[in-house]
Amino acid sequence: MPWCAACDKFLNPASVEDVDSCPQCGEVVEMGEFSTGSQEEVKVPWHFWVGVAAVIAYLGWRLIQGVGLLFW
Ligand SMILES: [Zn+2]
Repeated sequence: MPWCAACDKFLNPASVEDVDSCPQCGEVVEMGEFSTGSQEEVKVPWHFWVGVAAVIAYLGWRLIQGVGLLFW
């Protein structure tokens, strides 16, 4: 959420999106955690898929092991 320290209030993100300044006083607005930069963090990181692949490989291996024990 964009925050104007000069006006001491939160601003509509759409109104400051392009200029990064307060529409009322013109001061540079502090972009909060949920600013445009957070869109990058919403994306799933690559190491998440490495973890998923590892879990699938492990479960697949355990499945092969289990089936192997049944028919040993
Ligand atoms: Zn302001």
